[in-house]
Amino acid sequence: MNGLMMQQPLLVSSLLTHAERHHGEQEIVSRRVEGDIHRYRYRDLAQRARKLANTLAGLGIGHGERVGTLAWNGYRHMELYFAVSGSGAVLHTLNPRLHVDQLAYIIDHADDRAIFFDLTFLPLIESVASRIRSPKVFVAMTDRANMPAKHDLPIMLLCYEDLIDGHGDDFAWPLLDENDASSLCYTSGTTGNPKGVLYSHRSTILHTYAAALPDSLNCSARDVILPVVPMFHVNAWGLPYIACMVGAKLVFPGSSLDGKSLYELIEAEQVTLSAGVPTVWQGLLRHVAERGTTFTSMRRTIVGGAPCPTAMTAEFQERYYVDVLHAWGMTELSPVGTVCSFKGHHLSLPAHQRYAIQAKQGRAVFGIDMRIVGPDGQALSWDGQVAGDLQVRGPWVTSGYFGGEEASPLCDGWFPTGDVAKIDPDGFMQITDRSKDVIKSGGEWISSIDIENVACLHPAVASAVCIAARHPKWDERPLLLIVKKPEAVLESDELFEFFDGRVAKWWKPDAIVFVDAVPLGATGKVLKNQLREQFCDYYLKA
Ligand code: AMP
Repeated sequence: MNGLMMQQPLLVSSLLTHAERHHGEQEIVSRRVEGDIHRYRYRDLAQRARKLANTLAGLGIGHGERVGTLAWNGYRHMELYFAVSGSGAVLHTLNPRLHVDQLAYIIDHADDRAIFFDLTFLPLIESVASRIRSPKVFVAMTDRANMPAKHDLPIMLLCYEDLIDGHGDDFAWPLLDENDASSLCYTSGTTGNPKGVLYSHRSTILHTYAAALPDSLNCSARDVILPVVPMFHVNAWGLPYIACMVGAKLVFPGSSLDGKSLYELIEAEQVTLSAGVPTVWQGLLRHVAERGTTFTSMRRTIVGGAPCPTAMTAEFQERYYVDVLHAWGMTELSPVGTVCSFKGHHLSLPAHQRYAIQAKQGRAVFGIDMRIVGPDGQALSWDGQVAGDLQVRGPWVTSGYFGGEEASPLCDGWFPTGDVAKIDPDGFMQITDRSKDVIKSGGEWISSIDIENVACLHPAVASAVCIAARHPKWDERPLLLIVKKPEAVLESDELFEFFDGRVAKWWKPDAIVFVDAVPLGATGKVLKNQLREQFCDYYLKA
């Protein structure tokens, strides 16, 4: 039909060109792994991203090919975000907290053509390099002066700043199809091997619009945003894109995520809005309380990835006048799904009722359709009482996993989140349980099945069950229940040691409980729910 709106594709590169043109003077401040503070402006980001795009072309990285990053939150990582996706390749953010075997699996599965890494990860990259299939291009994200004198990589190690210096900034961002892939992030929040979630340019831009809204993450050009949530975990909840869209100042914390370092950065840069998992905020709040100080600029903090305890909400709000925005999302959702922003009629409620609302994960942002279903797949009512499996759909919800070897995860066109929730008549969703068999510790996943598999390799173990038990610091930690083989002799210490080298250190269960038997259902499956009920407070009582 004539006279319709223009068909302009929604592209990641357009965020950068917008930021350069309208917010070119706005600052991006990064604490570098080299130890100092780096600052420049959106103008510089855009110029260096164009140089980097030329570099990628020079390295032979083609349309749709994956480029891995193993990096903290910082300006060079930000440059990769835009140069890789903007030029038509796919940014694959790797999670350095994974075990080296898992990293190798993911790099091979994604078939990464090049890996860019922060200096702190050189030893990790050296271990990974001997385990991956094909030789890659390795680039250390530093300058010549800080390049490592020697390394164990099988091929030459390139220097990021040398590469950029060797290229001009004359680069026109290609007019891509908005449905092309822009970035890739693997999640271990499901059973089996980690699975890749592939975002498109279109899904990223739509997510950015929705996540920036006042009742979502509420970001504007007047904000100074500190994303503590890592850029390797669901694109730092989309904040690098949001900051460009709205023109906010960005502050990147690098590798220093302890309370003192965060507090100093927040104050020095006058951060107004921060985002992270509850574990990180515990460290920050402890530091501020011990120093008897306060926040002079921070007004809001986004807490997600795990439930935000009411005590934390109250401490932020009553003691420091920092509003808490409790949010829920998933890697499969880019990630924002719901945000707990009050409606008008909540504002006059007494404090305890407002805290009860803030304990909920919130209402769906526009674009996310959600429902709860019973065991028969039928939708349940939003009465705030009945709980069911939470399902979602929308333009930034995955339709399947990268590689597509597995059956579609969708049920009748809805994505099953693996979370169990209730929804109140106002549309506020509250997570009550999890049906997926994984443990979330400090915002990162631990596979209970991998832990069980390792334990079962021990000759004295007859069966092993690993469950999530609540933990005062990490939200959840793995608890391992063991049934020994008849007559077998086995002490906890021996089994703890057995895990060394077989899983990442922080995956090791904190405690092992020897039991005579584990409860089995009719089909012979372990009734984990029963064990969870019995042992969920194990660490709280310890
Ligand atoms: P990830 O894909 O690693 O971001 O993890 C997503 C999962 O983390 C969700 O499916 C939930 O199980 C959990 N999660 C995220 N945010 C929250 C929250 N605010 N409260 C409770 N659980 C959460």
